[in-house]
Amino acid sequence: MRKAVFLDRDGVINRLILNPKTGEYEPPHSPEELDLYPGVISSLHSLMEAGFYLFLVSNQPDYAKGKTTLEEIKAVHNKLDEIFKENKIIFQDYYYCYHHPQGIVPKYSYVCECRKPKPYFLLKAAKDYSIDLSGSWMIGDRDSDIECGNAAGTRTILIEEEHSAGYRGISAPDFFAGDICEAVKIILEFSKKFPT
Ligand SMILES: [Mg+2]
Ligand SMILES: [Zn+2]
Repeated sequence: MRKAVFLDRDGVINRLILNPKTGEYEPPHSPEELDLYPGVISSLHSLMEAGFYLFLVSNQPDYAKGKTTLEEIKAVHNKLDEIFKENKIIFQDYYYCYHHPQGIVPKYSYVCECRKPKPYFLLKAAKDYSIDLSGSWMIGDRDSDIECGNAAGTRTILIEEEHSAGYRGISAPDFFAGDICEAVKIILEFSKKFPT
Protein backbone atom coordinates (compact mmCIF):
# COMPACT_ATOMS: atom_id res chain seq x y z
CA MET A 1 0.00 0.00 0.00
CA ARG A 2 1.21 3.47 -0.87
CA LYS A 3 1.02 6.62 1.17
CA ALA A 4 -0.30 9.77 -0.46
CA VAL A 5 -0.56 13.49 0.02
CA PHE A 6 -3.84 14.97 -1.17
CA LEU A 7 -3.53 18.66 -1.99
CA ASP A 8 -6.15 21.29 -2.36
CA ARG A 9 -5.22 23.69 -5.16
CA ASP A 10 -6.32 27.33 -4.68
CA GLY A 11 -4.69 28.90 -1.63
CA VAL A 12 -2.27 25.98 -1.31
CA ILE A 13 -0.46 25.54 -4.64
CA ASN A 14 -1.47 28.78 -6.35
CA ARG A 15 -2.49 32.16 -5.05
CA LEU A 16 -6.06 33.36 -4.79
CA ILE A 17 -6.67 36.31 -7.13
CA LEU A 18 -8.61 39.46 -6.28
CA ASN A 19 -11.64 39.69 -8.55
CA PRO A 20 -12.38 43.43 -8.91
CA LYS A 21 -16.02 42.64 -9.85
CA THR A 22 -16.81 40.87 -6.59
CA GLY A 23 -14.08 42.31 -4.35
CA GLU A 24 -13.28 38.73 -3.31
CA TYR A 25 -10.22 36.57 -3.61
CA GLU A 26 -11.09 33.78 -6.01
CA PRO A 27 -9.44 30.99 -8.01
CA PRO A 28 -7.56 32.09 -11.13
CA HIS A 29 -9.99 32.39 -14.04
CA SER A 30 -7.36 32.35 -16.79
CA PRO A 31 -3.94 30.72 -17.23
CA GLU A 32 -2.33 34.18 -16.96
CA GLU A 33 -3.68 34.46 -13.42
CA LEU A 34 -2.16 31.16 -12.31
CA ASP A 35 0.56 32.15 -9.86
CA LEU A 36 2.28 29.43 -7.83
CA TYR A 37 3.49 30.17 -4.31
CA PRO A 38 7.27 30.17 -3.81
CA GLY A 39 8.72 26.76 -2.99
CA VAL A 40 5.82 24.71 -4.36
CA ILE A 41 7.91 22.76 -6.86
CA SER A 42 10.70 21.86 -4.43
CA SER A 43 8.17 20.94 -1.74
CA LEU A 44 6.36 18.59 -4.11
CA HIS A 45 9.69 17.06 -5.15
CA SER A 46 10.48 16.38 -1.48
CA LEU A 47 7.19 14.54 -1.04
CA MET A 48 7.84 12.44 -4.15
CA GLU A 49 11.35 11.61 -2.93
CA ALA A 50 9.90 10.51 0.41
CA GLY A 51 7.70 8.04 -1.49
CA PHE A 52 4.35 9.81 -1.38
CA TYR A 53 1.93 9.68 -4.28
CA LEU A 54 0.45 13.11 -5.06
CA PHE A 55 -3.21 13.83 -5.78
CA LEU A 56 -4.95 17.15 -6.42
CA VAL A 57 -8.45 17.47 -4.95
CA SER A 58 -10.15 20.71 -5.90
CA ASN A 59 -13.67 22.15 -5.85
CA GLN A 60 -14.13 24.37 -8.94
CA PRO A 61 -17.74 25.58 -8.79
CA ASP A 62 -17.28 28.88 -10.66
CA TYR A 63 -18.73 27.61 -13.94
CA ALA A 64 -21.76 26.26 -12.08
CA LYS A 65 -22.05 29.69 -10.44
CA GLY A 66 -21.87 31.50 -13.79
CA LYS A 67 -18.55 33.23 -13.01
CA THR A 68 -16.37 31.61 -15.68
CA THR A 69 -16.46 29.05 -18.48
CA LEU A 70 -15.52 25.38 -18.41
CA GLU A 71 -12.95 26.17 -21.10
CA GLU A 72 -11.21 28.69 -18.84
CA ILE A 73 -11.25 26.24 -15.92
CA LYS A 74 -9.65 23.63 -18.17
CA ALA A 75 -7.12 26.14 -19.52
CA VAL A 76 -6.00 26.95 -15.97
CA HIS A 77 -5.68 23.25 -15.22
CA ASN A 78 -3.70 22.63 -18.43
CA LYS A 79 -1.27 25.40 -17.51
CA LEU A 80 -0.75 23.89 -14.06
CA ASP A 81 -0.25 20.43 -15.55
CA GLU A 82 2.27 21.87 -18.00
CA ILE A 83 4.26 23.52 -15.18
CA PHE A 84 4.30 20.25 -13.22
CA LYS A 85 5.42 18.26 -16.28
CA GLU A 86 8.20 20.74 -17.06
CA ASN A 87 9.41 20.30 -13.49
CA LYS A 88 9.02 16.51 -13.36
CA ILE A 89 6.29 16.64 -10.75
CA ILE A 90 4.00 13.65 -11.09
CA PHE A 91 0.44 13.77 -9.82
CA GLN A 92 -1.13 10.31 -9.96
CA ASP A 93 -4.48 11.94 -10.57
CA TYR A 94 -6.27 15.27 -10.61
CA TYR A 95 -9.70 15.24 -9.03
CA TYR A 96 -11.98 18.21 -9.72
CA CYS A 97 -15.56 18.75 -8.62
CA TYR A 98 -17.31 21.25 -10.91
CA HIS A 99 -20.63 21.20 -9.08
CA HIS A 100 -22.31 23.58 -6.68
CA PRO A 101 -25.57 23.06 -4.81
CA GLN A 102 -26.69 26.67 -5.42
CA GLY A 103 -25.29 27.20 -8.90
CA ILE A 104 -27.15 28.71 -11.84
CA VAL A 105 -26.10 26.25 -14.57
CA PRO A 106 -28.62 23.43 -14.13
CA LYS A 107 -26.38 20.58 -15.30
CA TYR A 108 -23.78 21.40 -12.64
CA SER A 109 -26.02 22.70 -9.87
CA TYR A 110 -27.05 19.97 -7.49
CA VAL A 111 -25.86 18.23 -4.34
CA CYS A 112 -23.16 16.01 -5.80
CA GLU A 113 -21.13 13.23 -4.22
CA CYS A 114 -17.69 14.61 -5.07
CA ARG A 115 -17.64 18.10 -3.53
CA LYS A 116 -15.41 18.53 -0.48
CA PRO A 117 -15.95 18.12 2.46
CA LYS A 118 -17.24 14.80 1.13
CA PRO A 119 -14.34 12.33 1.04
CA TYR A 120 -15.44 10.80 -2.30
CA PHE A 121 -12.21 11.44 -4.25
CA LEU A 122 -9.93 10.31 -1.40
CA LEU A 123 -11.86 7.06 -1.11
CA LYS A 124 -11.72 6.67 -4.88
CA ALA A 125 -7.94 7.17 -4.89
CA ALA A 126 -7.55 4.65 -2.06
CA LYS A 127 -9.40 2.08 -4.13
CA ASP A 128 -7.90 2.87 -7.54
CA TYR A 129 -4.29 3.27 -6.38
CA SER A 130 -4.14 1.07 -3.24
CA ILE A 131 -3.56 4.03 -0.94
CA ASP A 132 -3.28 3.57 2.83
CA LEU A 133 -5.37 6.56 3.94
CA SER A 134 -4.30 6.29 7.59
CA GLY A 135 -0.70 6.91 6.50
CA SER A 136 -1.73 9.70 4.14
CA TRP A 137 -2.27 13.45 4.46
CA MET A 138 -4.67 16.12 3.28
CA ILE A 139 -3.43 19.72 2.97
CA GLY A 140 -5.88 22.58 2.48
CA ASP A 141 -6.70 26.16 3.42
CA ARG A 142 -10.40 25.75 4.31
CA ASP A 143 -12.38 23.82 6.88
CA SER A 144 -13.93 21.79 4.05
CA ASP A 145 -10.46 20.40 3.17
CA ILE A 146 -9.82 19.37 6.75
CA GLU A 147 -13.28 17.83 7.15
CA CYS A 148 -12.70 15.92 3.92
CA GLY A 149 -9.38 14.51 5.18
CA ASN A 150 -10.83 13.70 8.58
CA ALA A 151 -13.79 11.90 6.97
CA ALA A 152 -11.41 9.82 4.86
CA GLY A 153 -9.13 9.01 7.80
CA THR A 154 -6.01 10.90 6.69
CA ARG A 155 -3.95 13.25 8.81
CA THR A 156 -4.69 16.87 8.04
CA ILE A 157 -2.81 20.16 7.81
CA LEU A 158 -4.62 23.50 7.63
CA ILE A 159 -2.76 26.24 5.79
CA GLU A 160 -3.60 29.64 7.21
CA GLU A 161 -3.68 31.53 3.94
CA GLU A 162 -4.62 35.15 4.64
CA HIS A 163 -7.33 35.54 1.98
CA SER A 164 -9.26 32.38 2.93
CA ALA A 165 -9.46 33.12 6.65
CA GLY A 166 -13.24 33.46 6.42
CA TYR A 167 -13.51 29.77 5.51
CA ARG A 168 -11.75 28.48 8.63
CA GLY A 169 -12.45 28.15 12.30
CA ILE A 170 -14.59 25.12 13.01
CA SER A 171 -12.50 22.19 11.75
CA ALA A 172 -9.95 20.25 13.80
CA PRO A 173 -6.75 19.75 11.79
CA ASP A 174 -3.84 17.71 13.15
CA PHE A 175 -1.43 20.54 12.31
CA PHE A 176 -1.43 24.17 11.21
CA ALA A 177 1.01 25.63 8.70
CA GLY A 178 1.69 29.04 7.17
CA ASP A 179 2.18 27.69 3.66
CA ILE A 180 2.80 24.53 1.66
CA CYS A 181 6.55 24.57 2.47
CA GLU A 182 5.82 24.43 6.19
CA ALA A 183 3.17 21.76 5.67
CA VAL A 184 5.59 19.54 3.78
CA LYS A 185 8.23 20.00 6.48
CA ILE A 186 5.68 18.79 9.04
CA ILE A 187 4.93 15.69 6.96
CA LEU A 188 8.61 14.85 6.41
CA GLU A 189 9.51 15.34 10.09
CA PHE A 190 6.52 13.24 11.14
CA SER A 191 7.54 10.48 8.71
CA LYS A 192 11.06 10.44 10.17
CA LYS A 193 9.75 10.26 13.72
CA PHE A 194 7.16 7.60 12.98
CA PRO A 195 8.47 5.51 10.06
CA THR A 196 6.11 2.84 8.75
MG1 LIG B 1 -8.35 26.22 -1.22
ZN1 LIG C 1 -19.07 17.34 -7.46
